[in-house]
Amino acid sequence: NSFDQLGLSAELLRAVAEQGYSQPTPIQAQAIPVVLEGRDVMGAAQTGTGKTAGFTLPLLHRLGGQRLSQGIRPVRALVLTPTRELAAQVGDSVRDYGKYLPLTSAVIFGGVNINPQIAALRRGVDILVATPGRLLDHVNQKTLDLSKVEILVLDEADRMLDMGFIHDIRRVLKLLPAKRQNLLFSATFSDEIKRLADGLLDNPALVEV
Ligand code: AMP
Repeated sequence: NSFDQLGLSAELLRAVAEQGYSQPTPIQAQAIPVVLEGRDVMGAAQTGTGKTAGFTLPLLHRLGGQRLSQGIRPVRALVLTPTRELAAQVGDSVRDYGKYLPLTSAVIFGGVNINPQIAALRRGVDILVATPGRLLDHVNQKTLDLSKVEILVLDEADRMLDMGFIHDIRRVLKLLPAKRQNLLFSATFSDEIKRLADGLLDNPALVEV
């Protein structure tokens, strides 16, 4: 029951140790190994369970600790969240856990000037955390290419549907490559969430606490 046995790289274990975490939470112990295997995941978890590290740590591991190349780099992992507060929190986690990896990340949400976000995207972003509406603004302005996304995370998917983001989510899904890993986290499972999950996830591992 320790982080060392989950298969994470030394760089990630060092960052985890610096956070002061002594052992994985139940959702982390379940989710990290299956995400590392490359499987799709359906996660039933509330906030406070440690779900953010549960998907962020193996996502960082799978991106390989390596930048694809210098120059223009495509977004390789996309995390969608319902609110800017959650986007900012997830972005902080990505930065904290990924501090010893040569990967870059950015957070984009609405209600703030779009230009610094455009500048960040131009510099190259491996991991993008975003709310759906502003993400599509970038797509419409052609400042964002999602055609190389390897891993998609829908965080708090039930809240995204409650907030009316289903059409935005479906538009984003059409911009992604067909072959990719999908992780869906939700606290509740309505029929609408199940329909979304059915269309999105391929033989998912069910992870719940
Ligand atoms: P989350 O459910 O992802 O919002 O995380 C809730 C809180 O738990 C955050 O403040 C994390 O920093 C903290 N946390 C995550 N994983 C662990 C862990 N393995 N041990 C102790 N605290 C943790």
